Amino acid sequence: MPEGDTIRKAARRVGDALLGNEIVSIETPQPRHRFDRWPERLSGRALRAVDTHGKHLFLRFEGDLTLHSHLRMGGLWGVYRRGERWRRSPRRAWLVIRTPDHEVVQFDGPVLELVTDSRTRFDQRLAGLGPDLLADDFSEERFLARLREDDRTRPFGDALLDQRNIAGIGNIWRAEACFLAAIDPHRPTGEVSNDEALAAVRAIQPRMRESVEGRWPEPWVYRRDGRPCKRCRTLIQAGGIGDDNRTAYWCPECQS
Ligand SMILES: [Zn+2]
Repeated sequence: MPEGDTIRKAARRVGDALLGNEIVSIETPQPRHRFDRWPERLSGRALRAVDTHGKHLFLRFEGDLTLHSHLRMGGLWGVYRRGERWRRSPRRAWLVIRTPDHEVVQFDGPVLELVTDSRTRFDQRLAGLGPDLLADDFSEERFLARLREDDRTRPFGDALLDQRNIAGIGNIWRAEACFLAAIDPHRPTGEVSNDEALAAVRAIQPRMRESVEGRWPEPWVYRRDGRPCKRCRTLIQAGGIGDDNRTAYWCPECQS
């Protein structure tokens, strides 16, 4: 699943291709959007900004109209030069935006809606998002406040994935955060101190920013189950935790 750093990287590429350039066409090939008339509604409007919050991406057009996208599990933003071959089948395209030089394509991203800016501010799902770990104004206090409102018995590794607590963390970064802060991901959130919770997000924030810049740090535990811990040589373990039973990875020695 694309995490906050991946979405931010995509937003930068999409923005570089579209901002300041003439938009020649907008297409929504999927039958679900057949009657939405987005091409007509967006025709002639310039794109003002491309921004993100956690895993959500927003294309903000002139005249208070915003395209909101979330890639869920398998979506992808592609940016291609005109005539370049796409990495996925055109049948999987949900949105195609063309400029004289580029094609920007959203593939397999089932959350795609055209809304007014004011609605993005008041939309329940969006308003309920926790602070964005990659935002310049990320608030540790707001993160802690959200975390403390959550169920105290919930495994900490599960709480970190909940976008209402903190936005942008997915399975990779929750594994790395728990390792770097020496927290067993199964530990109940109520037994994790504020300092520990902050240590977890502070440890991954610079790494996620590195990733936005295209530098991918080697994981300590993510998908390293059965292999020796790089710190203590104990074998890394893996197992599903939390409501969604998504696979967590941890070192039983370093994170006991
Ligand atoms: Zn270890």
